[in-house]
Amino acid sequence: MSATTPFSKISIIGLGLIGSSLARAIAATWPNISVTGYDASNKVRARARGIGLCTRISDDIGDSVGDADFIVFAVPVGATHEVATNLIGHVPQDAIISDVGSSKANVAAILRGAFPDHAIVPAHPVAGTESSGPDAGFASLFRDRWCILTPDAETPPKATARVGAFWSGIGAKVEIMDAQHHDMVLAITSHLPHLIAYTIVGTASDLEGVTQSEVIKYSAGGFRDFTRIAASDPVMWRDVFLSNRDAVLDMLQRFSEDLSQLQRAIRWGDGDTLHALFTRTRAVRRSIVEQGQDDAAPDFGRKHD
Ligand code: NAP
Repeated sequence: MSATTPFSKISIIGLGLIGSSLARAIAATWPNISVTGYDASNKVRARARGIGLCTRISDDIGDSVGDADFIVFAVPVGATHEVATNLIGHVPQDAIISDVGSSKANVAAILRGAFPDHAIVPAHPVAGTESSGPDAGFASLFRDRWCILTPDAETPPKATARVGAFWSGIGAKVEIMDAQHHDMVLAITSHLPHLIAYTIVGTASDLEGVTQSEVIKYSAGGFRDFTRIAASDPVMWRDVFLSNRDAVLDMLQRFSEDLSQLQRAIRWGDGDTLHALFTRTRAVRRSIVEQGQDDAAPDFGRKHD
């Protein structure tokens, strides 16, 4: 292990978008790190072998972590308990356990319950696409994106530092946060927007008097952008809502109240309220672009360079 190589043997459980992107990013950054991959799906393991993902693909979950110094769960958060249970008794004592799940308090509690004596550093790379599976991943997915670590009181600071160095090494910007706070922030920035997109696209496809072909044909900017989000993986997102239930319900309550206010403004012709809000939200968008979290180029359904 060189000074700049935070781990020497990494195991990745789950070889979908995030797991396969991690494997590619590690290979591109530290070709000497040995990476063992495992996925519950025979088809995914076969595909991973076919495209040369990881140093080795194991058919046995216990075997896949046998000599690892860093183990990353990259499965839907609802599978965390099953994977953790299957790994009990197989994880080397000095291995650091982590994950990439989109919700943190619930996942962290499951990991802590299964591995009370291990160093656990839960993580959430705030990076992704609406695609899934081992072919969807790419090495630069995490570059210049935030990765939030949520160590608990039991986590040795050295373990947090090593995991932070790992994510920085593959190009991410690292932030440390309390797990509950993470769940509240992500409920509003990621989980609620997905819920709204699923709702709008679902409502449009259920409308009587407007045909499916009209919805598709006239899918102007707003609706089309929602359909991209609403195409995200159904298993992953089902699990996120069930796992981050309390924070999502809190944000949904707040959102419903704000939506009712807008409804009232429209009903009473209160243009000032609408204009004031839309001006404020435009400034939020400008800040996101200024901070490099998105670019301002319009695409109108076409790719831009
Ligand atoms: P994905 O592309 O669907 O990959 C998940 C993989 O895990 C699939 O190959 C799945 O196999 C496998 N799997 C399911 N249950 C398993 C089990 N019990 N044991 C071993 N493997 C199992 O999903 P992903 O987008 O990579 O998401 C993985 C994690 O990253 C999730 O926790 C998600 O919340 C988090 N995350 C996702 C994004 C995003 O934008 N996608 C961003 C940040 C974080 P099957 O297909 O056969 O079920």
